[in-house]
Order: sequence, then C-alpha cells, then structure tokens
Amino acid sequence: MQAEIITIGDELLIGQTIDTNSAWIGHALSQIGVRVTKISSIQDDELEIKQQLDVSIPKADIVIITGGLGPTKDDLTKKVLNEYFGGNLIVNEKVQARNEAYFATRNRPNLAVNQQQALVPDNCTVLFNHNGTAPGMWFEKSNTIVVSLPGVPYEMKALMSDEVLPRLRENKQLKGLYCRTIQTTGIGESFLAEYIKDWENDVRKNGLSLAYLPSPGIVKLRLSSYSGEHEKVNRAIENLKTLIPQYFFAENDDSFSQIIGKILMQRKQTIGTAESCTSGKLANEIVKIPGASAYYNGSIVAYSYALKEKLLDIPSALLDKQGAVSKECVERMAMNGKEKLSVDYCIATSGIAGPTGGTSEKPVGTVWIAIAGPNGVEAQRFQFGQLREVNIELSCSNALRLLLNKLKNE
Ligand code: ATP
Ligand code: MG
Repeated sequence: MQAEIITIGDELLIGQTIDTNSAWIGHALSQIGVRVTKISSIQDDELEIKQQLDVSIPKADIVIITGGLGPTKDDLTKKVLNEYFGGNLIVNEKVQARNEAYFATRNRPNLAVNQQQALVPDNCTVLFNHNGTAPGMWFEKSNTIVVSLPGVPYEMKALMSDEVLPRLRENKQLKGLYCRTIQTTGIGESFLAEYIKDWENDVRKNGLSLAYLPSPGIVKLRLSSYSGEHEKVNRAIENLKTLIPQYFFAENDDSFSQIIGKILMQRKQTIGTAESCTSGKLANEIVKIPGASAYYNGSIVAYSYALKEKLLDIPSALLDKQGAVSKECVERMAMNGKEKLSVDYCIATSGIAGPTGGTSEKPVGTVWIAIAGPNGVEAQRFQFGQLREVNIELSCSNALRLLLNKLKNE
C-alpha cells in the first residue's frame, strides 16, 4: 500500500510554519506498513489543489491531506474537495451541535462563518473532530482513499490515531512494518556503504530496504521489511554486526551520552569536563540525560588563557610555547580537571572553531580532545572544517565517542 501526503497552506511555503504534520503522518503510516512515496506542500490555491490531486490519486492507494479547513476565506480545501468529488455540501448535525455547544460554553456567538464548519460533502465519511470545529473527511475514488484533515497538529494527530489509522489497519494487505536500527561510529557514510556493499546488495535482493541516517559522528543504519518479515531482518542485522564490529556501537536510538551514562552508572564511576572550544556544550550533552547527577560532577569552562591558568593550573609557559590548541595543553586540562572535579574520567577540549584564528600550522577546525582516566591520559587531534557551529558539535560528538570507546575497552 502506497501513500502520498499533501500539506496545504501558504504559511508552509514561506517558512512561517514548519511542516511537522508530514513527518508525524509519515512515521505513523510507516509503522502500520504503509509506504509513503511522496510528500508535497502546496499553496492555498484552488487550481494547485486540484492539479495535485490529479497527480497523486492515480499513483497512491491513499492520499492524506492536511490544512485549509478553517472558517476563513483563505481556507479552500473543503470547497475544492467537494467540487472535485462532485458532492453537495450538507449540514452534519453532530458537527453542528458540537460547534454550537462549543461557542455557547465560551459565551461566544456561533458566527455564520463558523456555522459553515458543519457543512460537509454528502459523498464522504465524516471523521468527527473532538478538538476543533472542522471535521475530517474520508473520500474514496477509483480505488484511492483521500483523507482531508485539519492543519492544526493536535487535531490532525487525534483524527489520525482515532479514525484514520484504525480504518487502514483493517486492510488485509497490510502486514506491518518491521525494522531494526543499528548505530555505527568512526566511519563516514560513503566509506561505510563501500565497506558493506555486498551485504547491502544481498538484503536489497531479499526485498528489504536499507536507510543510512548520518548525524555528526554517527551513521545509523535502518533495515526494514514492509511485509513484516522479522526473520529476514533479524538474520541480516546479525550478519551486519559481525561484519563491522569495529564500527558498531549500539542497537537502538540511544545517544553516546545515554550509553555512557548507563555504563558509568553500572560501574559507579564519575565524569567531568574541562572545556575550551565547546565551552559548556559538552557538559550540556551529558546532563541532557535524566539521572546524570549520579555520574556527572561538573565542568570547568576555561576559554581564555587567563582562566586556563587560574582554574586549570595550565602553566603560562606552556600556553606561550605550545598554545592552548595543543596536545600538551589539552592533556593537562584533562588531568588537572580530573583532580579538581574529583572524577574518574575528565574530557578536555581545545580547538579553533573559526571562522577566524586559524594559522597555517593550526588551521580553523583544528581540535584537540583528551581524556584522563584511571589508566592515564590520551589525546587525539582532529581536523574539522570551516563552520564554527559544526566544529563545536563535532568536538562534542567525538569527545563522547572517544570516552565511550575508552569505557568499552577498560
Ligand atoms: P482549523 O479548521 O482548525 O482552523 P485548518 O485545517 O484550517 O484547521 P490551517 O488553517 O491550514 O488548518 O492551519 C492551522 C494552523 O495549523 C496553522 O496556523 C499552522 O500553524 C498549523 N499547521 C498547518 N499545517 C501544518 C503542518 N503541515 N505542519 C504543522 N503545522 C501546521
Ligand atoms: Mg490555512
């Protein structure tokens, strides 16, 4: 079963509202085994809506539309659908009663424009909306289901959950989506694809679909079967894990900081951070995890040379000679941070986030990361790119990755 999603609203096209409806609907449909093949966002415009229906209906088994059901003149969806499917607008008494009661309890008149909200095409199934004035509508045309829902996200979600998904689940063709996700680190997306290409060809031949989901420092691989073939997916995942043990680090959606937290909690160990170029972001990543107080003691943010001397006892001679972005400095930061914060592990970061401050020897994007632990200190140099925000983010994700590797090896 294939679906298309159409979101309607000028506000979506000028970036005033972000289209979160499509993401939510796409996720919900894929969970029940419906494959979403296209998402389109279009204007509140009669011709555009009709043309989009002409394109989507022949291709999809189900078309879900959101938006444009409001009482104001800019909302055209209901009028267009009624014409498109050749219906007549009639009053739906249940909707009318709900809307009248709604305005009455708020001591507001039910204006003529709002009364129109109870008008529905006589050739659709009305999906009663408990949370708003506009009902959803379910049409069927030449084997395609077309569902129109309000744009307001909580109204849309309730109608999807209560009315649309249960009706779709009754369809016998649906076997349900089964997917598993594994996380890899230490290898870029294209290199990983090259490394596992034979495995990937095999799973594709077997009718499974593979998605690469890269984010800074991590590439997730999601393997899915739209026909509910658990065995096939499980077998392929186990094969993959034996193929890339050096890159595989977790199966599920846990972040580095979540996995680190679990390990530290188990081992009753603690961490702290001594941060220059990340200046608190690394600490923030760690404390995003509920319960972090069990293993996270705190951070020393020392951005200037003066504070590196004062708070982390970095000798001024070292800073003058090697500079703050150096192996020597970052190792000292980690070791002294470990002492001062009374932790088992301390991560230190120091780098040139840019866009200025680079030299030929240490260009923008040069970052040193060190970890001091029970067995001494280790540092690694990274060369990231030109973008400040990305450099800071990559510093954090790599710092956490190094710590995770260390914890796994100890
Ligand atoms: P109602 O009948 O409740 O007025 P509606 O169908 O008229 O709903 P719209 O007028 O298109 O809905 O949008 C209402 C609000 O819902 C907008 O202000 C917008 O913030 C939000 N919205 C609309 N479409 C989307 C979308 N695709 N993703 C997220 N939010 C949306
Ligand atoms: Mg609108």
